[in-house]
Amino acid sequence: MIPMLRNILILAFVGLLQQCSYSQTNNSTNKAGKEMDSTKKNNPVYSQSDTSKVEISEAEWKKILPEDVYYIARQKGTERPWTSKYEALKDKGTYYCAACGNALFQSDTKFESGCGWPSFYQPISKTSIIYTPDNTHGMERVEVQCGRCKAHLGHVFEDGPPPTGLRYCINGVVLDFEKAKEAEKTYQDKAKKDE
Ligand SMILES: [Zn+2]
Repeated sequence: MIPMLRNILILAFVGLLQQCSYSQTNNSTNKAGKEMDSTKKNNPVYSQSDTSKVEISEAEWKKILPEDVYYIARQKGTERPWTSKYEALKDKGTYYCAACGNALFQSDTKFESGCGWPSFYQPISKTSIIYTPDNTHGMERVEVQCGRCKAHLGHVFEDGPPPTGLRYCINGVVLDFEKAKEAEKTYQDKAKKDE
């Protein structure tokens, strides 16, 4: 009787240990943001240094982009206002296209517009953005797309602050942010490679 009881206890204990280790694995994966990294690993066009245009089929995009990014970047969706972690972010750094890695905006051109989406008054360069008239939803707006992969980013309005008077209203889902130090390192790595 006693040895049997002991076996049951040992089995229960082992089961408990296994459960613990499973939940720990899950937690650490989420905390480390590994999900995002593996997403980029599955995306062969993602590069913060390659500026050549990306032209691949919609089917290909669907395969390599996470669902939320695909919905906005390729299907011109809009994220719900006030849902982006970048909306109120004030850290210094660079914002990249989440679909292809193209550098889009610097944090020093970001401002609080109160519209519920990350807002900037100027893109990094003239070629980082493409402008297209958008007359859908009964409005005359100007759509902004990524200059490298044509991902839908958002719209630009003429009620922004100086010096441009423009407000680039961008879906946070299609942005990747890199803090200044890391962005600088990427740049240095690239410079080293080019030497
Ligand atoms: Zn892009």
